[in-house]
Amino acid sequence: MNSLTLDHADAATEFNKNEAKVDWHDETLWFVRTKRDRAVALVPEWEQLREAASQIKNHVLSNMHDLLVQFEANAIRNGITVHWAADGDEHNAIIHKLIQQAGATQMVKSKSMLTEECHLNKFLIEHGIDVIDSDLGERIVQMRGEPPSHIVMPAIHLTKAEVGETFHQHLGTDKGATDPQYLTEAARQHLRDTFLTRKVALTGVNFAIAETGGFVVCTNEGNADMGAHLADVHIAAMGFEKLIPRAEHLGVYLRLLARSATGQPITTFSSHFHRPRPGQEMHIVIVDNGRSRQLGRPDFRNSLKCIRCAACMNTCPVYRRSGGFSYHSAVAGPIGSILAPNLDMRKNADLPFASTLCGSCSNVCPVKIDIHDQLYKWRQVLMKEGYGPNSKTVAMKAMATVLESPRLYRMAGKVGRGVLRFAPIAVENRLNPWYNQREMPEPPAESFHDWYINRKKE
Ligand code: SF4
Repeated sequence: MNSLTLDHADAATEFNKNEAKVDWHDETLWFVRTKRDRAVALVPEWEQLREAASQIKNHVLSNMHDLLVQFEANAIRNGITVHWAADGDEHNAIIHKLIQQAGATQMVKSKSMLTEECHLNKFLIEHGIDVIDSDLGERIVQMRGEPPSHIVMPAIHLTKAEVGETFHQHLGTDKGATDPQYLTEAARQHLRDTFLTRKVALTGVNFAIAETGGFVVCTNEGNADMGAHLADVHIAAMGFEKLIPRAEHLGVYLRLLARSATGQPITTFSSHFHRPRPGQEMHIVIVDNGRSRQLGRPDFRNSLKCIRCAACMNTCPVYRRSGGFSYHSAVAGPIGSILAPNLDMRKNADLPFASTLCGSCSNVCPVKIDIHDQLYKWRQVLMKEGYGPNSKTVAMKAMATVLESPRLYRMAGKVGRGVLRFAPIAVENRLNPWYNQREMPEPPAESFHDWYINRKKE
């Protein structure tokens, strides 16, 4: 973690200073989770769909090479140019070059968490390219100079009043206006100009179909379509795990995705792209950026099955009450916490600990990723590799020594009870983060062991 980045616990403490906002954030995400539950309850074959989705993705992970080659060949046959990027830098450089080749200095972009992961906007702006995010939530956070805090609802951390103030500053809407319809109309007019004037559009990819060489982009606003249909050059950026083998598999994922994400039966737009329209260029950039390494980790490879629905974030009690920014990573929440350590163990060593391990994430995951098991396994890997905080390493070693010896254990119990009774300040102080959130119990007069021995004697 660099010195400017707070670790999750410290960033969550900051977020928790505004209690009213935390409550509202928590309730809003829980509302989305309950919408998901109601939508799921209307699909009797939900568990079969989850199982099918999981098995298809298992097949993809085990046949990644062949499916990628098949996808590339079919895409090229369709007239799409395919590019391969080993990491974020290559991905950014390829896209920059394509924009330059088009003679453009501006680009419109629909939602793509991959481009967040690769820090594309920052890179392009530094190279003189004006990028406009066209997803409404993403545009709002872009105007505020913030990253998205949620992979499906990027501005979920903001209130209507905050959005109104942002629009007032950047789009000239009335001061104090918070009416969603008025604000959305202002955004619509602003983005319409953008769509009409950009020669290059970038979209993400939700599903790439090996059998056809085509791909599907899901949005609720139609912004990906507006960008791609009006631009001379359409660039689609995808992590290689977005592959599915055949077109017939799409139905499984499209039914799971929107219900898991927002409780909708399907996303408003599920747009299929197969080839450039006459006169248009279409490019696909297929990105690794650590995915091969994750594929090679047996305990963590199935995190690559993720379809980015965010159900695990909406249900997570830690995410809901700590906010997306506390994860200091492009993808926040439980799934982000098992993806991020693969990219940088040192920087992201805190994230697998940002969980109660309650398992709610795994329960809702539409592709059956064992998220909470992986969080637990990452903790073990990170501690073994020496990325745990020194204080925790020392404390765990001391604890192991005490637990190994019944004599030491009894002595430590006696000391602990004595401290709590006669010098509680040693534990109950602001320097002890554990105590900050809890009240200490009354110390018992004797240990259970002593109590048991004494009762036996009586
Ligand atoms: S891990 Fe599962 S629940 Fe979380 S975003 Fe990915 S698919 Fe959705």
